Amino acid sequence: LGTNPHFLVTSEGEMVEAPRHFQKAEEKLAKAQRELSRKKKGSNRRKKARLKVAKLHRKIANQRKDFHHKVARKLVNRYGTIVHEDLNVQALSRSHIAKGIHDAGWAQFLAILAYKAAAHRASGSVLAGRRVIKVDPKYTSQDCPVCGHREKKPLWVRAYTCPQCGALLHRDVAAAQNILARAWTGPSGVAIPCPRSPGL
Ligand SMILES: [Zn+2]
Repeated sequence: LGTNPHFLVTSEGEMVEAPRHFQKAEEKLAKAQRELSRKKKGSNRRKKARLKVAKLHRKIANQRKDFHHKVARKLVNRYGTIVHEDLNVQALSRSHIAKGIHDAGWAQFLAILAYKAAAHRASGSVLAGRRVIKVDPKYTSQDCPVCGHREKKPLWVRAYTCPQCGALLHRDVAAAQNILARAWTGPSGVAIPCPRSPGL
């Protein structure tokens, strides 16, 4: 779930926040970009300002990549099967949600995750069989993971409260549980035998 204050939320209720220094670095970048826009075209000062912006961009990209590697490593070590929203489907069904840096970051993270899962399989470990499964996220933020009741809720509502069965869950945890359940049952109805699998 790339569109909440947390970097990711698992079906077990674990929430991973993006490190605070990301925000600081992005504020610095915004400031440098403002300064660049004020410099006269063709001037030496403008050249200097442009280099500063490029350097900050690189720094942020590297920090983000490190963070993605760490989180992906943790998940791959811990879980046999990892289920997440299919980003391509999400882009179509949620075009109303603000796009930008965050989504780009999420795509990179999923690529790293898939790569690490494959590397884990190739290593021939006794725990081999790491799988990463993409599922269609449609309705996963509207359905009750307990009874299946479907209800559209505004994005600012942080808790999932079910009017039918009374379930009360963090909204993103509820969505993660739905995502996981979707992989278990799948469109073909084939169950996946894995007892510990987080939906992301
Ligand atoms: Zn319910």
